[in-house]
Amino acid sequence: MSNKTALTNPDVVSINAPQGRRDRAWAEINLTNLVHNARVLKMALPPACDIMAVVKANAYGHGDITVSKTLAREGINVFAVATLDEGVNLRKNGIRGEILILGYTDPKRADELSRYGLIQTITDAQYAGELNGSGRTVKAHIKVDTGMHRLGESYENTAMIAQIFGYAHLSIGGIYTHLCAADGAGEGDRDFTALQIQRFNNSLGGLKSKGITSPKTHILSSSGVLSRCDVKCDYARIGLALYGASGTVRYDIDIKPVLSLKARVSHLSRVAAGESVGYNRAFTAKRDTLIAVIAIGYADGIPRSLSGRGEVLIRGRRAPIAGLICMDQLMADVTDIANVKSGDVATLIGSDGGECITADEMSLKAGTIPNELFSRLGSRIERIAAY
Ligand SMILES: *Cc1c(COP(=O)(O)O)cnc(C)c1O
Repeated sequence: MSNKTALTNPDVVSINAPQGRRDRAWAEINLTNLVHNARVLKMALPPACDIMAVVKANAYGHGDITVSKTLAREGINVFAVATLDEGVNLRKNGIRGEILILGYTDPKRADELSRYGLIQTITDAQYAGELNGSGRTVKAHIKVDTGMHRLGESYENTAMIAQIFGYAHLSIGGIYTHLCAADGAGEGDRDFTALQIQRFNNSLGGLKSKGITSPKTHILSSSGVLSRCDVKCDYARIGLALYGASGTVRYDIDIKPVLSLKARVSHLSRVAAGESVGYNRAFTAKRDTLIAVIAIGYADGIPRSLSGRGEVLIRGRRAPIAGLICMDQLMADVTDIANVKSGDVATLIGSDGGECITADEMSLKAGTIPNELFSRLGSRIERIAAY
């Protein structure tokens, strides 16, 4: 694992310059923890099951090129993205191996699928016909809808799915489904997950009886792996858990957070009791108050819903966010923290001293999920990746 490897994503400061600028708002990407997560997740899977690393949306904001290259050095050579352009970008940056596009691609762009050796998801039988009609030979995995009702050909149409395997210009290497309630702990959720798995297996059985036995299979994403769903497949499509977050799923796998989010205290202001702070005067000082202005805001991906609810860490202590979060800045009440100075580091996600705010905690407080929080981190955030 050379620490001299050049990282080509412009979003990610080369680990040759691991300090970065760190002058406003930045994310530290801990590649040691990423590798650790890949290892413990692989160990949690049945031996024949490999990780398909989901690196869509810039690897959930973590930097897709850096993340993919790091995982490739760990022996992971199957990746998933959401869009054709994301897949092309990985190829242009030297990512080899298999790259599955999870979303829809306009059949007009079949030549790019073929040229870059990307694997397209077949979203239903009609789409299979359209893509086949492009005349370019395209690699594909068929998606089966087992109850989520997003993408996929219905599990009930096994005969139709079998036909797709015969299409001249589609090279079908896999078949998969997606669970929609694997993160739910309720009995209803567990029953529905079991039903989806059963429907998928029934389809596979139907295909087998027609002599179709070779495609790679995959069902689980992070929540299914973390909750140790018992399925036998060739791949698990893992995104969030690789990044060390889980949402509200209960789990016993030792994943560690990869991303820390930090910003500078840019200014301090003393606010007398009775004065207000910020837009709409949403915060009123009950006592003489010291307000730290922090150089990060909702345009950087901090949910505005954390206004008056969230916290940041400064000098190892929690400071409540005061008033409404602004586009580029937010304010925190640091009255109870000694020696806060302009230029101090505020931690929005991550640890400082003995305190820690996880992405799971922050997203729960914001009424969202860590996937959304991560993927909305803005382009102004400097990404600094290092082992
Ligand atoms: C995004 C996505 C995944 C990864 O989900 P995580 O919960 O982040 O592991 C897997 N499969 C599909 C179809 C997806 O869209």
